[in-house]
Amino acid sequence: MKGRICSLSAEAFVTLATTDSYCMGATVVARSLRRHGTTRHIVAMITPNVSEQSRLALNDVFDEVIVVDVMDSEDYHHLCLLGRPELGITFTKIHCWTLTQYSKCVFLDADTLVLCNVDELFDRDELSAAPDPGWPDCFNSGVFVFRPSLHTHTSLLHHASRHGSVHDNTRLHGLRRKFFYLQVCSCRFGHGAKIIHFLGADKPWSSQGNSSYSHNMEQFVSLWWKEYLIHTVSSAPAVQPKQEQKKPQ
Ligand code: UDP
Ligand code: MN
Repeated sequence: MKGRICSLSAEAFVTLATTDSYCMGATVVARSLRRHGTTRHIVAMITPNVSEQSRLALNDVFDEVIVVDVMDSEDYHHLCLLGRPELGITFTKIHCWTLTQYSKCVFLDADTLVLCNVDELFDRDELSAAPDPGWPDCFNSGVFVFRPSLHTHTSLLHHASRHGSVHDNTRLHGLRRKFFYLQVCSCRFGHGAKIIHFLGADKPWSSQGNSSYSHNMEQFVSLWWKEYLIHTVSSAPAVQPKQEQKKPQ
């Protein structure tokens, strides 16, 4: 199913997984994209600590699995205030701008689930994103359209090293007018959504049986598990939800 060569291969969906648990999410991102017939490549960025077993599983479903260095905003204080001390590592996302073998990409967080074909996103320009439900003035970095560029990558690294994660998000206000907001991502209610983003500390892979999701979201959590389990081969046991991302709140 994967690896088809086509004229649109210079565009790709990209996700990131720095732990085996997030690899479970990444698998579902790729499977749901393929289920809905994307014509674009699907790329996973992983960090060196990801286990061999998870890499092999990703190789089965992604066109490319690329190892990148871990980046951490080290903005522990602000992230603790947000109750998400683990999120400094999401700065590793910035490496997506190094994928210059592609002319345009759509980044999808590993905690997203695609509900229909969303290739239309490639009609959007850098940088397109949806407003953050918590901070509508800021964009949510769970789904965004970007153009890989080493120049942009260097600028973002520089910016990140000076301002840290939460400040970074706030300072991006200044750039906001350049953004074209996506109307495709409904995070809270799911009605008419094309992509579900399970943002927040609870993820589908960590919530089996003891979920704090609303009734409305439960249907998407079930759909997520269906997508995860459907092709998971029993000889290579499914990566069990680990506690690694469930840091104290
Ligand atoms: N991520 C990761 N490892 C982590 C935390 C985050 O690989 O330990 C990546 C993953 O792609 C994830 C994204 O960074 O989807 C953003 O983190 P998360 O989705 O948990 O943040 P939220 O959307 O809940 O704010
Ligand atoms: Mn997310």
